[in-house]
Amino acid sequence: MSQRTKIKALLQSQQTEIDVTVKGWVRAFRSNRFIALNDGSTNNNIQIVVDFENTDPALLKRITVGAALSVQGKLIASLGKGQTVEVVANEIEILGDCDPETYPIQPKKHSLEFLRENAHLRFRTSTFGAIFRLRNSLAFAVHRFFQERGFVYLHTPIITASDAEGAGETFHVTNFDLNNIPKTDTGEIDFKQDFFGRPTNLTVSGQLEGELGAMALSDIYTFGPTFRAENSNTTRHLAEFWMIEPEVAFNDLVDNMDLAEDMLKYVIKYALDKNADDIEFLTQRLLEEEKTKPQNERSEMTLTEKLQFCLNNDFERLTYTEAIEILKESTPNKKKKFVYPVEGWGTDLQSEHERYLVEKHFKKPVILTDYPKEIKAFYMRQNDDGKTVRAMDILFPGIGEIVGGSQREERLDKLEQRMHEMGIPTQELWWYLDTRRFGSCPHAGFGLGFERLVLFVTGMGNIRDVIPFPRFPKNAEF
Ligand code: ATP
Ligand code: MN
Repeated sequence: MSQRTKIKALLQSQQTEIDVTVKGWVRAFRSNRFIALNDGSTNNNIQIVVDFENTDPALLKRITVGAALSVQGKLIASLGKGQTVEVVANEIEILGDCDPETYPIQPKKHSLEFLRENAHLRFRTSTFGAIFRLRNSLAFAVHRFFQERGFVYLHTPIITASDAEGAGETFHVTNFDLNNIPKTDTGEIDFKQDFFGRPTNLTVSGQLEGELGAMALSDIYTFGPTFRAENSNTTRHLAEFWMIEPEVAFNDLVDNMDLAEDMLKYVIKYALDKNADDIEFLTQRLLEEEKTKPQNERSEMTLTEKLQFCLNNDFERLTYTEAIEILKESTPNKKKKFVYPVEGWGTDLQSEHERYLVEKHFKKPVILTDYPKEIKAFYMRQNDDGKTVRAMDILFPGIGEIVGGSQREERLDKLEQRMHEMGIPTQELWWYLDTRRFGSCPHAGFGLGFERLVLFVTGMGNIRDVIPFPRFPKNAEF
């Protein structure tokens, strides 16, 4: 029996008049003659030509959309439009039938909501095939970028006893019988009897442990799942998402920004080169979607143009303080168009403000630095002004914040003082503070939300559509 050849390879084949075996799922079957077969190796289908006069009618009936087939035949140059090669079938074997009456994925346009409810089957659509091939390439490119630069991939724990940001939006981890939780004499939960002998949770970030690695290995990165029990039912938040967190000894904030910008450009370029077909497909998909919008709401650039634009332009770098000035003077602020008006210095920026800066004012990715210390985490390096910290957020068109990072506070006294001010217990983080006791040095890092990157590269509008099985409030199906 001949080996299976993937459809992607067949479509690129220089050779014709050869015997091939191809396997996949039926996307369409027309005139009892032409099967469009797809195996997920590419968005493009291969056309199978059926000799229907010499094929058992019972078999023909079983060639329905969604059925899994194995086809043996000859690869020939195609005369038809839209393809250069096709397979003339010798033998068709039905590997798995698919009842057209009950199969949810019909050969028509389904809404994204419908497909989310059928996430177990949505991989079989062209849109989701493209999205998940792109997601794969981006993940690989992230590793390649860091590996080429000598970074060490560090696996930080998924179960931790610390809540890195002190935000408290964590999922608890326990093996207590929830109907019978051990209590102390005073009626509190007796965590001493729990699995780890203390309260634990799923990690919200690998940063603190990442810093420990960087204090010896110099350049590390993490790439793993993170969990946040935030009840934000938005198109940009998931309860389970993947984060990339490089941490680099001896880097300052400018090095940190350079690293983040280089990385983003590298992985976007990789995707453009590697998945040109998928990006072209998603570009067309978006153009169709844009047509349903009023003229003034349509995007000025296509998806491909947006990605190219991002590669070919320096990200705009400015301070939080400068951004506030711009926002205060902006037309939407003066015309009271923002839901959250920008009045004074010191408040956190809302996504509407971030998007105004990126999409309307600068019209390109923006890096904001030196935020007020009150709205940022305890570990960020304090500036001499006593008011701001060496933070940097990268804002992307259509997304808002895609990266959050900072130069870290490497001075023990300053760090402890800030922790006291913010009510963060220093004893619990003794191991973190040890890095500042024993050979501390300037260092910096950031967190890139992987799904937000995939959102940008695919041009999709909802983060739930760029992770195979999204976790969000009231949803953990599949
Ligand atoms: P936001 O203000 O958008 O909630 P954040 O300030 O909470 O973001 P960080 O704690 O700095 O985010 O996390 C680093 C990165 O992780 C963010 O820049 C973003 O790309 C991503 N991220 C944060 N929360 C989520 C989430 N719930 N789902 C998906 N990605 C997220
Ligand atoms: Mn958040």
